[in-house]
Amino acid sequence: MNLMYRSTRDSKNRVTASQAVLQGLSPDGGLFVPESMPVLTKSMEELSGMDYREIAYEVMKLFLTDYTEEELKDCINKAYDSKFDTPEIAPLKKGSEAYYLELFHGSTIAFKDMALSILPHLLTKAAKKNNVKEDIVILTATSGDTGKAALAGFADVPGTKIIVFYPKDGVSSVQEKQMVTQKGDNTYVVGIKGNFDDAQTGVKLMFNDKELADRLKQSGYLFSSANSINIGRLVPQIVYYVYTYATLYKKKQIEPGEKINFIVPTGNFGNILAAYYAKQIGVPVNQLICASNENKVLFDFFQTGRYDKNRPFVLTESPSMDILVSSNLERLIYHIADGDSDKTAQLMKALTTQGVYDITDSMKLNLKGFLGGWASAEETRAAIDREFKESGYVIDTHTAVAASVYHDYVINTKDQTKSVIVSTASPYKFSKSVLEALHTENVPEDDYEQALILKQVSKTVIPNAVEEIRTAPVVHKRVCETAEMQRVVKEILKII
Ligand SMILES: *Cc1c(COP(=O)(O)O)cnc(C)c1O
Repeated sequence: MNLMYRSTRDSKNRVTASQAVLQGLSPDGGLFVPESMPVLTKSMEELSGMDYREIAYEVMKLFLTDYTEEELKDCINKAYDSKFDTPEIAPLKKGSEAYYLELFHGSTIAFKDMALSILPHLLTKAAKKNNVKEDIVILTATSGDTGKAALAGFADVPGTKIIVFYPKDGVSSVQEKQMVTQKGDNTYVVGIKGNFDDAQTGVKLMFNDKELADRLKQSGYLFSSANSINIGRLVPQIVYYVYTYATLYKKKQIEPGEKINFIVPTGNFGNILAAYYAKQIGVPVNQLICASNENKVLFDFFQTGRYDKNRPFVLTESPSMDILVSSNLERLIYHIADGDSDKTAQLMKALTTQGVYDITDSMKLNLKGFLGGWASAEETRAAIDREFKESGYVIDTHTAVAASVYHDYVINTKDQTKSVIVSTASPYKFSKSVLEALHTENVPEDDYEQALILKQVSKTVIPNAVEEIRTAPVVHKRVCETAEMQRVVKEILKII
């Protein structure tokens, strides 16, 4: 029997997995969630004997039940291949206080590659399955990393076009270069004069615009999303939590059934939600620790039960976490409301109209197992420096937010549970901030020169992604106001 998905805002809107992948967002504005939670059918003993791809199949088949075994395996094999610079795909390293799960070995050296290298394949298969004749237009807002990872995943995939909006002054210089040098006849990159939330809101408005959808259809196009709200992003992210546990088990670092903590540097709440789903399907988890930077709206939420986005937006050195509306939190809200879609819709409406909502006491009780923490700019830098001094291991600014939060957590709780800090970006992607945190003198302005220093300090190899952008020409130069996003899309698709 097929596992069906329903909207967080209206339980009557039900779709299959492949339809959910195609649609991205439900027509009512809600997010698709599985109607019931599957459980792992293989034991940890069995899983620990499998490689990343095999575990990916064991996990994804539970959630994407209307894909055949052949289709799923084909998607997995196309995604997790030599694009990754290690056959382990998601290696686990031992740091001074915890393990680090390195999710940055894909083509853009950040964790979005884990899901975005497979999404194009899941999507084109879904289109075929559902007899979609239109070309798929991927519309994406990015805080930096999603954009490039999506562009890399979709570039020159037949039957697709991809349009990426990013905050012109809100991403790192490497992130911007990676995007504006993207090859592929079907790729479009647009800088907007606004922040990530503006970009995301603009994209959501287009998704919800019925009239626009009709005009697209007439022109032979169908919108879809590569943002982390798509379950085609979420499901592949569950895989590495299962893989991590299996790896620890295989290396005899944990006893059978021993619970572990995950500390996740969080922005849109997609990565940590995948950890929550991993827990639901049977991975023994003690605490899920949600780490925020100075945009600590989630920390406040876990403290008080009130989500309040009415606050200044802070640009930090962990830009991929500079977010005030964490879209994927809506799924958690739905689950802690015990699947009450009316309640979820009501809270999300309050968020749109007033920018704030409060969850009920019973919902608060259901948040057990989650903890929030946050790190200031100074604490983040200190965490990079501390880890390097203690173990010689260099972490990036996003990972450092989580490392700082974990450091405080251990001091405050004395919790001895084995813990895994999710490492979401390579330090080479944020080399300037990392070198400054390590008190390097006279950090050069040039990205590549920074990489050369980082290579010496960290005794690691410069990733291919950094080598690549040295010489690549800038091919995308569009910049627009937030209010012009829709006009730009029409212009690109030649819809008048
Ligand atoms: C996207 C991103 C995050 C945040 O992940 P979410 O799933 O949005 O919470 C953290 N770190 C890096 C480097 C990222 O690219």
